[in-house]
Amino acid sequence: MSDIIKTEAVVLSKINYGDTSSIVSLYTESDGKLSVIVKGGRSSKSKTGKIIDPLNHLQVIFYKKTSRELQILSDANLISHFVNIKENLDATKYSFAIIELIKTLSPENESNNKLFNGLLKILKMIDEKNEAPAFLFGRFLLFFLSELGYELSINKCVICGKNVTPDQTVGFDFQSGFICSDCFVSHTGFESISPELFELIYCLKANKSTKKFNVDLMDRFNLLLERYLKFHVNDFKGIQSLQIYK
Ligand SMILES: [Zn+2]
Repeated sequence: MSDIIKTEAVVLSKINYGDTSSIVSLYTESDGKLSVIVKGGRSSKSKTGKIIDPLNHLQVIFYKKTSRELQILSDANLISHFVNIKENLDATKYSFAIIELIKTLSPENESNNKLFNGLLKILKMIDEKNEAPAFLFGRFLLFFLSELGYELSINKCVICGKNVTPDQTVGFDFQSGFICSDCFVSHTGFESISPELFELIYCLKANKSTKKFNVDLMDRFNLLLERYLKFHVNDFKGIQSLQIYK
C-alpha cells in the first residue's frame, strides 16, 4: 500500500530517465527532500512534464511508499515559475545555488517547515528584486547554516571572550568563529576580516539594510561562508552553480 500525498514543492533538479520519463528531486512541504519519477514526463503531450523545471513552485500529488527510494508523481500544478529570476543571469545563478545547497545538504524524507518556508521566501524576494541577488543569497546562506547546526556567532571573541567590534581588522577561524582585533594581532593563521566586511556581516545577522555595501564585498563574504561550510561538512565540494555562471 502507498499513501497519496498532496503537498507543495520546489523543484530542485530534473534528469532524463528511460525514453520518456524523468527523475525529479523535490523539496516538499510534507516530506522534505525526495525523488519522484514522472512517467512519460518528456512526452510533448505531458502537461505535468512541462511545468516540472528547477526552481518552479508546484502543488504536487504523489504516491508514497517508505520502502521505495523513488516515489511516483501522479499530478502537478504550477503555483509560480519565478519569471523574473529566469530573465536575469545573476538572479538565476544565486537561485540555482540555493536549490543546489538544499539538494546537496538537506536530509532525505525529513520535513522542515522552517526551511521550506525560508526557501520559498528567498526565491520570492529574489523574484521581486527586493535586494541584489548576491545579498539575498548571503542572507539565505546564514539562515541555512543555522538550520544545519553551524550558526555563525559574531558577538564574542572565541579566544578571549571579549566583544568583537568592527573598528579594526578582526580575525575569523573556520573551526570556531570570530576573533577580536587584539587576539588577531597576537595570534597567526586566521582569516583577516576588514572593518567594512565585519559591518556587513553584522547588518546581515541583525537583518538590517545593506544598501551602502557593494556586491564585491558581499561575494567575498559568500565565498567565506562557502569555505566555512566546506570546513564543517565532509564531502561538501562547494557550490557548483556559482562556478557555472561565473
Ligand atoms: Zn580576543
